[in-house]
Amino acid sequence: MKITILGARGSVPTDGRDMLEFGGATSCVLVETDDTALYLDAGTGIMSAPDLGDKNISIVLTHPHIDHMIGLPFFPALSESGRRIDIYGSPRMKYTTRMQLERLLSPPLWPLFITDYPADTVIHDIDGDFNIGDIGIKSMESNHPGGGLVLRVEHGGKSVVLATDFEHDGEHIKMLTEFAKDTDLLLYDAQYTDEEYEHFRGYGHSTPSVGLELMKESGAKSIRFMHHDPRHTDKILKMMEEKIKTETETVSFAREGEEILL
Ligand SMILES: [Zn+2]
Ligand SMILES: [Zn+2]
Repeated sequence: MKITILGARGSVPTDGRDMLEFGGATSCVLVETDDTALYLDAGTGIMSAPDLGDKNISIVLTHPHIDHMIGLPFFPALSESGRRIDIYGSPRMKYTTRMQLERLLSPPLWPLFITDYPADTVIHDIDGDFNIGDIGIKSMESNHPGGGLVLRVEHGGKSVVLATDFEHDGEHIKMLTEFAKDTDLLLYDAQYTDEEYEHFRGYGHSTPSVGLELMKESGAKSIRFMHHDPRHTDKILKMMEEKIKTETETVSFAREGEEILL
């Protein structure tokens, strides 16, 4: 399985010379096997999706907050006539995945419905564990305003867990510890420093120190912190990274464009 971090920023896309190292594109992680390209979230990172030839393309959305969907209208594969794209999400507040997409992408906010693009989009509501080609997908409910999914993607005996937009109160961190058990790669929401978190309780995000503890308790083999706060420059993120850095290469902050082979 090859993992590419296409977008690691949280809340809103950013740009500027002080944001180049970690990048400004919002949440999108590409998981590739021989036959399948699976995008986890469709933030602005999905705009730099590579050309993947004939691979089957699917998108799984953790939740419908706009930073996780706003890249979708510029997803290159949507412009390919005859290309099938499967999109999976979870119903929220009586909105099915189709209704969520239609609410974001429809006049007067956007000129086109997603079904108006040349590609053939097939929209699914997630209901329990499922498979996409040779990839298995499990999910657990996140602790986040409006709800969301934490995803576990498995292929060929390896796994990656995406726990973005997750806040770590008592019961939820225990559930996540179990859900992420022995995973090869944990992608964890670390939007805030410990000090910042005190001001942002209830916003639905977490910290690197909680992530490190989670890594230890779950037996996760490596961790990348993501959903970087839009106010955090490269300098701040490097300081945060330095603070939690261990001797090994297994702990770091996700950088846009980074590839990880599992
Ligand atoms: Zn978010
Ligand atoms: Zn969110």
